[in-house]
Amino acid sequence: MRAVVCQHANLAVQDVPDPELHPGQVRLEVVRCGICGSDLHGRTGMDEWADLGARAGYDRLGRSNEPIVFGHEFSGRVAEHGPKCRRDVAEGMPAVAFPLLRSAAGVDAVGLSRHAPGAYAEQLVVQEALMLPVPNGLEPEVAALTEPMAVAWHAVRRSEIGRRDLAIVIGCGPIGLGVILMLKAKGVRTVVASDFSPGRRALATRCGADVVVDPAQASPYTAVTKRAHVHDVSALLELAVGTSEKLRRLPVGEWQAWRLADAVGAGPKQPVVFECVGVPGMIDSIIDSAPAFSRVVVVGVCVGTDRITPAMAINKEIDLRFVIGYTPLEFRDTLHMLAEGKVDPRPLITGTVGLDGVAGAFEALADPEAHAKILIDPRA
Ligand SMILES: [Zn+2]
Repeated sequence: MRAVVCQHANLAVQDVPDPELHPGQVRLEVVRCGICGSDLHGRTGMDEWADLGARAGYDRLGRSNEPIVFGHEFSGRVAEHGPKCRRDVAEGMPAVAFPLLRSAAGVDAVGLSRHAPGAYAEQLVVQEALMLPVPNGLEPEVAALTEPMAVAWHAVRRSEIGRRDLAIVIGCGPIGLGVILMLKAKGVRTVVASDFSPGRRALATRCGADVVVDPAQASPYTAVTKRAHVHDVSALLELAVGTSEKLRRLPVGEWQAWRLADAVGAGPKQPVVFECVGVPGMIDSIIDSAPAFSRVVVVGVCVGTDRITPAMAINKEIDLRFVIGYTPLEFRDTLHMLAEGKVDPRPLITGTVGLDGVAGAFEALADPEAHAKILIDPRA
């Protein structure tokens, strides 16, 4: 079969042997596969990741000198069941899969290891236990976005945001746009989105952002001001003294009133900031500029070392929370949200290429004005 192989940072279409099926595995014919930011990074940065993986106790990620077939955001059709399969999804049926594959030696990340070639190919092998039938006649283009949208859904769930909390999304690439879509699907009333690129800001609006900001012109943190946010340390100290003064005027006991207010969660509001850029300096700039008590959810993947100023985060009691991936349940729920029309990620899709167009698409994706998500159709 044909596949796009990456080796020594070079992407080339090659004829490779059909993938082998082990017990409990299924061969899919790939219908669509998304190009992910992590693939763009992986073209030149596989070794960096493999080293990080090894530091975290995982040594099965691919290296730059190995032939890697990327592609972990895919939809396909069931082509063949391996031995010992349950066969609940019949041959010819559309399916997606959580991109992990088990072998005798361990569990591999599909599309990031030479042991588990991904979907930049005519076919790939998935684990039957992690495969799901695509329901409701959902188009393969949209089904292929289950994986990146599950990343966004996981970030939103881990943020523990409430519908009335203010959401501020920094960076409107595919992940930021996915987070905006999932925040609106969850019913969050006010979503502020920020990106330097006019093209990306237009996509943020199409994805449902309520307020869209060019950070070169205005601060995303003050774009919505009617909320009870504490914007700086002066306001924080004023709040402490002012609240005491106000409560002393009440006919009930001051401290009793304070305890009651605490119990009903009446304190200053916590905006939730989603960092969806992933370059050095982003986390520190958010700590610097976000209101006190902000909860910062770091979704963007900065692979290198970064610096923050802890005392600044301490002054403002910033919560920092890091997220990655999704659970199998979140993956399943995302597929069903897409299939039921609760969330529509079609604005993200800005192009489709065949296997021969992948190297060009990697170049094109460097321009945020032109593209968000490019899909591969291996038969185009
Ligand atoms: Zn991805």
